[in-house]
Amino acid sequence: MHSAPCPFCRAPSDPVLRQRPDYEYGIQVQLDYHRCRACGLVFADPIPVADIPSFYASYSTHGQHTQRKLPLLARASRGVMLREFESLVPSHKDEPVLDFGCGDGSFLAELRERGYTRLAGYDFDPQARKAARLVGAQVAESEEDLPALGPFAVITLNHVIEHMVDPPRDLARLGSMLRPGGRLVIRTPNARSVLSRSLGPAWRGWETPRHLHVFTPASVQAMARLPALSDLAMKRVFTSESMYLGIFHESLRNGFWRHPAGKLARHAAALVSWAGLTAVNAFAPVGEELVVAFERRAA
Ligand SMILES: [Zn+2]
Repeated sequence: MHSAPCPFCRAPSDPVLRQRPDYEYGIQVQLDYHRCRACGLVFADPIPVADIPSFYASYSTHGQHTQRKLPLLARASRGVMLREFESLVPSHKDEPVLDFGCGDGSFLAELRERGYTRLAGYDFDPQARKAARLVGAQVAESEEDLPALGPFAVITLNHVIEHMVDPPRDLARLGSMLRPGGRLVIRTPNARSVLSRSLGPAWRGWETPRHLHVFTPASVQAMARLPALSDLAMKRVFTSESMYLGIFHESLRNGFWRHPAGKLARHAAALVSWAGLTAVNAFAPVGEELVVAFERRAA
């Protein structure tokens, strides 16, 4: 395997995640992953662009959004996520908001419940677009149709950027659809989280081969300095534990952890470590997700 330079900071990299199977969807493709020695970005190189659609043959957005009642802890974690979102965006709820990579429209439905009135979405998957329309959002049929629905006050990408072949290029394009002062709010797995470091290849956040770039706080900073993003100012980057329990359980689902005693131990360990790490996350960026806000500069 060659040592690919980091696409954001150009520093050398080391091979990682060799032979990690696709634990999530069982796709029989293994990419070469590298970790940047400087910023810690974990990235696939080379990226077989033509094969990417086949990685999504049985993807999770194919379900239809239902107003299902979430379990108590899941509701609490969605509440944290929505509060984090609202702390980063303008408070005018009558301005257009775009959820790019909206999946089945779950997040758009939550924004509607919170009083946002002009909701737009886009997803590459036609079945997901159909589901997202049912929540009452304007869902573009193609990316080319998006500018006509803007300019947007907010564009949000929930677990989307890690799937992009060229994140700075795509963020620049999305940023051009923001009004001046509008915000791009991104959530993505943190390659420097406690679980990513302690669980190795089992960590849910790697999701090989669909995740092509797994970021760290430093790699977000390195990306923000690229000329492609000169119209965007990075306002905030922090980490969140709002998805900790889900990531913990989905990372530990093989062998011992599947059996009754293992499940009990897993649930106990999840709750105790969640409480502890939520406290630590207030002081250090150890959380499972990175939350990033960019702002479009005034022209
Ligand atoms: Zn780097």
